[in-house]
Amino acid sequence: MFLKTLDSKGAIIINKEHQYMMEVLVEGTRVMQMAKLFRGRDIPFDVIVSDTSGCGGTRRIRSPLANRLRCPITLFADRSLDWRDFYPLQVVYTFLNDLEKAFPSTCTVSVIGRSVEGRDIKMLKISNSDANNTGIWLDGATHAREWISTAVVTYIADYLARNFDTLSVNYTSKDWYFVPVVNPDGYQHSHTSDRMWRKNRAVYGNVISGVDLNRNFGYFWGRGGMEHSSGDPSHLNYRGPEPFSEPETTAIKDIILYSGTPFKIFLSFHACSEAISFPWCHTADPCPDYVNLLEGGTAMAKAIFETTGRMYKVGNFKDIMYYASGTSIDWSYGTARIPFSYLVELRSKQDRFTLPREEIIICCKEILNGVKALVEFSDKKKCLNCSVIPKKLRN
Ligand SMILES: [Zn+2]
Repeated sequence: MFLKTLDSKGAIIINKEHQYMMEVLVEGTRVMQMAKLFRGRDIPFDVIVSDTSGCGGTRRIRSPLANRLRCPITLFADRSLDWRDFYPLQVVYTFLNDLEKAFPSTCTVSVIGRSVEGRDIKMLKISNSDANNTGIWLDGATHAREWISTAVVTYIADYLARNFDTLSVNYTSKDWYFVPVVNPDGYQHSHTSDRMWRKNRAVYGNVISGVDLNRNFGYFWGRGGMEHSSGDPSHLNYRGPEPFSEPETTAIKDIILYSGTPFKIFLSFHACSEAISFPWCHTADPCPDYVNLLEGGTAMAKAIFETTGRMYKVGNFKDIMYYASGTSIDWSYGTARIPFSYLVELRSKQDRFTLPREEIIICCKEILNGVKALVEFSDKKKCLNCSVIPKKLRN
């Protein structure tokens, strides 16, 4: 194999080998050259630049080159996403690019921002480019360890892209926006170093404390007590120093407010409480669209139940979860005025964040049917708090 040849010639040192990925060490000055070589051969990779302690592995390799090799690079097996396993960031991004190549008339991949550590935040848009379309937003991995959310978002994207020509107008009259990994640094960190990492990788107080991105949005940011969010960087729910202090939340804000698409549905996928929740998160008061949101959530839950027998709870966030302020759905509903805003907590209550890989596809299928039911429901409903009407009020 190509990499073994490079290793035998001393150009790289293969440091670790796993089923789908390999870590190699490359001399710092040759990283760019190697990256070009990997790109030329379509080998997905990620340069691990943030953590030089990863070079500690070189000491274990008895090679005259070892002392000069400083930069670890993770390479990923050339295997497409198949929802039989969880995949690292670069495999997810390669999947998006491949979908765009396969369906260029409907799929467009763009970079909507860069993370704290400089990774791309990639978005896939699926659309027939009709100017009358309304928008649907789906995002995953706001919280790094909730890997199933990325699987679900990519699965739905794949389904839509492959079946676009035969789908009913309910689905094709929409601009679909997919951001499978809102928090690429945290997601990568959860795959390589700390499986239970939740926040992004921002530095506050001279350490990588991370910000809870679902407390960093600008609507009612920092309001309420300790249960709503925390001002302490070491806390799991640290809200950051100010609203939208983080590039990851800012990227979402900008694309939603300035894309020109009137969004009607906003779905943010999390794990693991098996619940379909809607605004508000910061107060127990009902929002203006409470009845619509309850009915839409119930339509989703019914479709999920009919697919797999799984029962997802439905209710406003505070009632079925807890208080939280600065969340994305309070912002998408309250500021961006997206009437059908939901935070969906995926499987599973039993296994929490480490969902067995055998359950990935079944979870994706039940949620796909849930989303389809919501789309059909929302098409029949007029909303009280809709972005289609007060577009000028948004700034
Ligand atoms: Zn979460």
